[in-house]
Amino acid sequence: MINHRGSALNLFLSRPKNLKERENKKISSYYAENVFTDAKLRSYLSNDAYKAYNQSIEQGQKITRELADQIAAALKSWAMEKGTTHYTHWFQPLTGSTAEKHDSFFTLSGNGSPVEKFDGDALVQAEPDASSFPSGGLRATFEARGYTAWDPMSPAFIMDIAGSKTLCIPTVFISYNGEALDHKAPLLRSIEALDKAATGVARYFDRFVNKVSATLGWEQEYFLIDKAMYYARPDLMSSGRTVFGRGPAKGQQLEDHYFGAIPERVYSFMVDLEMECHKLGIPVRTRHNEVAPSQFECAPMFEMANIAVDHNSLLMDLMDRVARRHHLIVLLHEKPFAGINGSGKHNNWSMSTDTGTNLLGPGKTPRNNLQFLTFFVNTIKAVHDNSDLLRACIAAESNDYRLGANEAPPAIISVFIGEYLSKVLEAIESRADQDLKEDEENNLKLDIHKMIPDVMMDNTDRNRTSPFAFTGNKFEFRAVGSSANCADPMMVLNTIVANQLNEFKEKVDKHIEAGDKKDSAILKELRACIKSSKNILFEGDNYSEAWANEAEKRGLPNVKTTPTALDAYTTKKAKEIFSKNNILSEKEQEARHEIYLENYIKKVEIESSLVEELTMNQILPACIRFQTDLFQNIKASSEAGIPNKTAQTIAKSVSAHIDEVYAGIEKMKAARSKVHHLNTTRDKAIALCDQVKPLFLEIRSHVDDLELLVEDKYWPLPKYREILFNR
Ligand code: ADP
Ligand code: MG
Repeated sequence: MINHRGSALNLFLSRPKNLKERENKKISSYYAENVFTDAKLRSYLSNDAYKAYNQSIEQGQKITRELADQIAAALKSWAMEKGTTHYTHWFQPLTGSTAEKHDSFFTLSGNGSPVEKFDGDALVQAEPDASSFPSGGLRATFEARGYTAWDPMSPAFIMDIAGSKTLCIPTVFISYNGEALDHKAPLLRSIEALDKAATGVARYFDRFVNKVSATLGWEQEYFLIDKAMYYARPDLMSSGRTVFGRGPAKGQQLEDHYFGAIPERVYSFMVDLEMECHKLGIPVRTRHNEVAPSQFECAPMFEMANIAVDHNSLLMDLMDRVARRHHLIVLLHEKPFAGINGSGKHNNWSMSTDTGTNLLGPGKTPRNNLQFLTFFVNTIKAVHDNSDLLRACIAAESNDYRLGANEAPPAIISVFIGEYLSKVLEAIESRADQDLKEDEENNLKLDIHKMIPDVMMDNTDRNRTSPFAFTGNKFEFRAVGSSANCADPMMVLNTIVANQLNEFKEKVDKHIEAGDKKDSAILKELRACIKSSKNILFEGDNYSEAWANEAEKRGLPNVKTTPTALDAYTTKKAKEIFSKNNILSEKEQEARHEIYLENYIKKVEIESSLVEELTMNQILPACIRFQTDLFQNIKASSEAGIPNKTAQTIAKSVSAHIDEVYAGIEKMKAARSKVHHLNTTRDKAIALCDQVKPLFLEIRSHVDDLELLVEDKYWPLPKYREILFNR
């Protein structure tokens, strides 16, 4: 008989404790050494070619084939000097991880002699076998073609895996007709839309602004556990979370893990991970423990949203590889352990101009402050008008376990801005039209100008429970799940803010045409925005029940599950916003909606079969064996004429739970089979959500009770204390 749990524990205990020596080099000495940075491009290209490249990037123009050939040659020289043999188009399909297909530089020339080749064609476009990636009907089945196309804004990099080096070229993944099949294509379009809209508005304040970029600084939470434990838990392996498991006696009640000393084994992993990140130009800086045992976080300095999104995807991939080298496994699931805090990925977002201004940074001069207020208020208004879309873009089967689970923001989207800014907005709102006029010296009568510079000092009342919080000079979107690709939340945020800024500008321009001075026109419009969006503002405890009730009174949506949250993508309003701003056509939106529903269905089906399989071949057999022991004991005691109430009570209890578990499985199977007869993907997803998923919990409650009752040596799965308190 094999007891995986026992072997896992033995393996864990026999892990070598002496950690490897390492050379401590200055980070700056190897930072971005595996990235084809702008400086490297410049040194490998002729001056003219480099100029032409820069011009294309700045003006968003297509790179000519000739220039692409030159860049490809430069890339090849650099990569081959570093010992790279293969290249791949690296992309982010809607399946949730990154994809790549490796080709070698090596080929045979016409006369059969071996050569290394890489030209503009190979750089610009490739055709991976797309049939295994979801398309939501965008590719007819007979036409399984999908294309990857180079994103010249994101630098190529070299992945060094198992001693073999591959040049990775960041690309978008599109269909034959140019429809987006990935996360990056719509993200890039949204970045462009935000650039246009925000530049238009920023020019009210500074006519030298030519470009506005969305910035993103993510914070990635994760669990780290021993590899042996992971392999002894088929649920962790197949779904990323434990479908069973009783909370340990020592959980996180003491909260002694947060900011505590990082265990050595973990530390060693972190140092390695950071080194890999730095070589790839991912500017990670902080490392610390999170609230839950075995939970950690890492965060980089913020970057342009496109690059930051790529870097986060790359990080998730790196984490997995590096952890395995340390016999550890990274869990990116939002809720791997019931009763223990889940993991999120805070997305810190702002907008910055090519003149070096953070548009969400309160300034030191009156003009800067009006600029700050303009972007600040417009973001709030965008969130207010489209909170359903923000909810949709973070919707995932795994995030449903975390949102609103007493430790993470609820499914209600609200905005926290702090006491000080609340007062500022109230002040603007209460001004009469008359007060918004400028005096002879063109000074606004409003005294808010002087107030704002102090905002930066006033960060003490940060509200950690808010799903969308202003944190001094950026908004922090905290409802994003730890396993999510940041692209979707960024795409939605960029789009709704771009849309709002366009509307804002139209109205302000009208006021100006009607004779208002610019600043009063802006303030007038800001006041209107504040009035119509103030019910999205909430300063209190988002985890409380009182807030759920209050939000309901305010009419704020509280969509708790993914299948219905995704509906927001297909409303008339959403279709208009996405198509008007050239982010996603209606067809692309419908395809995405379909793919997300399909993903949801697959995930629940996997979990459901896991629950069944684990119960039938591991849990119940172990419980029945223990039950047999009890029966034998009871039989023996009754033969001896000795009362045995305790064994009898335990046997009754164990037997009752066994029956309940089995009945639950039967019920789940019946519910599952009904789903197959439903017609639409949405109906199926909703049925799985409402009819099947609740049974996981019902079955689990009995299994977790059995975990307490059944003799420890029989229990087949590593327990929470064994998985979580590894040092
Ligand atoms: P916390 O207190 O939430 O842990 P920090 O204040 O250290 O956070 O910053 C969190 C993240 O915010 C960092 O990843 C940082 O890069 C990012 N950040 C800071 N400024 C900006 C900005 N202007 N745009 C986007 N992200 C930013
Ligand atoms: Mg944070």
